[in-house]
Amino acid sequence: MHELGVTFTVIKRVEEVARENNVKHICKVTLSLGEVSTVIPEQLIDCWNWAVNNKSEILSNCELVIEPIEAITYCSDCKKEYNTIKYGKICPYCASSHTWLKQGNEFIIKDVTAD
Ligand SMILES: [Zn+2]
Repeated sequence: MHELGVTFTVIKRVEEVARENNVKHICKVTLSLGEVSTVIPEQLIDCWNWAVNNKSEILSNCELVIEPIEAITYCSDCKKEYNTIKYGKICPYCASSHTWLKQGNEFIIKDVTAD
């Protein structure tokens, strides 16, 4: 359960932010999630809903909003960028395989809303 690990990582970080800012309760967390990250959004939300209601007071009933980050791959031969989901590892412009993922594999806590 990779999603559970991510859930606890996010909860821990948000709780730290809440304590640093003297906030008693967080009602909404917005997470930016890369399209090709290994985290499945539906499973993450399931884990989240369980965890915030069982493991955290600061985050009880907190809503999780997931915003996707488009996956973009960069080609080091023709220096172009393209959509990773559509074309994978092979550059659609020059058919090179000398490509690397520029973005789309990350998860970032984008916004935290206190009530
Ligand atoms: Zn190329």
